[in-house]
Parts: sequence; C-alpha cells; structure tokens
Amino acid sequence: MFEVSVEESFAAGHALRGYRGKCENPHGHNYKVRVTLRGQELDQIGLLFDFKDLKLAMNDIIERFDHQYLNDLDAFKVANPSAENLAKYFYDETSHKLHQATDGRVRVRDVTVWETDNTTAKYFEAGD
Ligand SMILES: [Zn+2]
Repeated sequence: MFEVSVEESFAAGHALRGYRGKCENPHGHNYKVRVTLRGQELDQIGLLFDFKDLKLAMNDIIERFDHQYLNDLDAFKVANPSAENLAKYFYDETSHKLHQATDGRVRVRDVTVWETDNTTAKYFEAGD
C-alpha cells in the first residue's frame, strides 16, 4: 500500500450547541487538517496522487470555511461544527472527488482535524 498526506490550515469560528461549558459560546480556532490517501497502484509516472491536486481539492473545501462562522453554513445548521464533524465533511467531500478523479484507484484513508496544537479528531471508515 502507498499513502500520501497533505496538511492545510484555516481559521474559523464556531459554537457547540448543547455543550455545557465555554465552547457553547462563539469562539475561534486556527484549524489544521490532514487528508491521507491510500492505494495499491501508482499512476504511469509513479505517483499515488499529485500533492498539488490534493491541495486543490482541500482548498476548495477550505474556501467555504476560512474566516466563516461555521454554524451558519448549511452543513452545520443541524450537525454541530465539531472537529469530528469537520473531519467527516472533509472525508466525504474529498472521497467524492477522488473517486471521480481516479476511478477508485485511490481512496481517502482518513482525515485528521486539529482544533488546537494538542487536540485532534480523526474520521475514517471501518475496513479502509
Ligand atoms: Zn471550539
């Protein structure tokens, strides 16, 4: 198996509905996100997936989040914009793109979101 990862960052605000404590109130984070891809076969020039193209796919999503109040976005009107749900959002969106771009050759293995330097949430699907 081969794996490649790209990390990107963005800044955004959120509030966790139903949380008892300070995180119930609006506040901001400098988020970092890492998307890891995996696959068994490389392409004709020896790449699993071009880092540049993975960055582009991630930046498409980041543009929706950067300097936004996440609770206002459609994706988080009901589901809380927790690090866990952000990780799942990146996973679902990049999986969809990857599937189209590589015809299933490359899959998203997991997505990790840092809310602070030492707190992370990861999303992956069993069997991957
Ligand atoms: Zn927070």
